[in-house]
Amino acid sequence: MEIFVTMIPEQIQKFIDNFSRLPSLGPRLATRLAFYLIGLDKNDLKNLESSLGDLRHLSRCKQCFFLKGGGNLCAICANPKRDKTVIAIVEKETDLISLEKTGQFQGHYLLLGELPGRGSLESSQKLRLEHLKSRIQKELGGKIKEIIIALNPTGAGDFTAQMIKKEFESLAEKITRLGRGIPTGGEIEFADEETLGQALARRN
Ligand SMILES: [Zn+2]
Repeated sequence: MEIFVTMIPEQIQKFIDNFSRLPSLGPRLATRLAFYLIGLDKNDLKNLESSLGDLRHLSRCKQCFFLKGGGNLCAICANPKRDKTVIAIVEKETDLISLEKTGQFQGHYLLLGELPGRGSLESSQKLRLEHLKSRIQKELGGKIKEIIIALNPTGAGDFTAQMIKKEFESLAEKITRLGRGIPTGGEIEFADEETLGQALARRN
């Protein structure tokens, strides 16, 4: 890339440096993206710019740690029609979105954040679980109907699932695990709606 670097305007190089750090982009695609964007209509570029800027205004829901615009709670937690006594513990935002797309889940969530490859959870993730515990104890009568562990069937997912089962044993009438039907090592995020819907229905 060295020769190339010296002949392109600084603005483009900066764009490439920043965007090539994004997952699945890399320098080659970031470069193509830069030139594609430069070729866009000025208005389209402006819209892209503002949608990127708007991401800065998002923050985490105080209850489930999903993202929200204004207020204290996300749209899911703020919806009075949803069942607070069934809580699915998920890893990533995209897992939550996949479960929502099945249209078969009407409970609440706890978003844990990406699991470390090995060993125990990060302290921020432990805090999220503690937060859920105290919510069950203080706001939900000490025991909820069900906790659904919707973590991927990977080593880290299994390890965390065991830990959650132990920690929440007395706080839920049943603790189920989603993932039967999702191939071992497969990801919730990429499962189609039907497969995921079945995995949800057959949780045990
Ligand atoms: Zn929420």
